[in-house]
Amino acid sequence: MARYTDAVCRLCRREQQKLFLKGLRCTSPKCALARKNYAPGQHGESKSRAKLSNYGVQLREKQKVKRMYGILEKQFRRYFHTATKSKGVTGKVLLQLLERRLDNVVFRLGFGVSRAQARQIVRHNFVYVNNKRVNIPSYLITQDDAVDIKCKDKAREKIKENLEMSKDRSLVSWLTLNQAELKAKVLRLPEKDDIQQPIQEQLIVELYSK
Ligand code: SF4
Repeated sequence: MARYTDAVCRLCRREQQKLFLKGLRCTSPKCALARKNYAPGQHGESKSRAKLSNYGVQLREKQKVKRMYGILEKQFRRYFHTATKSKGVTGKVLLQLLERRLDNVVFRLGFGVSRAQARQIVRHNFVYVNNKRVNIPSYLITQDDAVDIKCKDKAREKIKENLEMSKDRSLVSWLTLNQAELKAKVLRLPEKDDIQQPIQEQLIVELYSK
């Protein structure tokens, strides 16, 4: 699966918002957005000051969410399509689908300090869902799923270090975690209020519905 491999801080600078793509660095004074609070590139500063059209506002919101979750356009559109086919409210279902991704769940649990690191943990075969190894970051978890880490001691120590580093990030209420055993359970499906960053999903729905 294709993924974005360029410098991620550019993405936050483009969106003029912290997307927390680099783990601990994001809360330090080294954060690129804290140092250069304007869009990247030669005309970045004027781009940041420009007033956006309605379309521009919708586009930026979609790009922001896509970038937060580390998803490219094609897959994001597929999530939107699935959301439109569901019985629920499209925007809310879209956010729920994104939150249910296994790499996001591993990030929310604190096993990885960023979604990119969580994705790597999944790809490295360390994550088991209901006792079955799952190495697909886009795998969608569901209510009552058990999510466990099984790996050699060295990797286990690293994941425990990540947990320690992520301790300031409070655990979302739809998951429970046994920190000592690296075992978690999905209590319920996530709701919009569980997402700790502000997202105006209606703008994305409007953009794709044109
Ligand atoms: Fe974004 Fe983190 Fe880079 Fe700051 S350090 S610009 S929050 S990815």
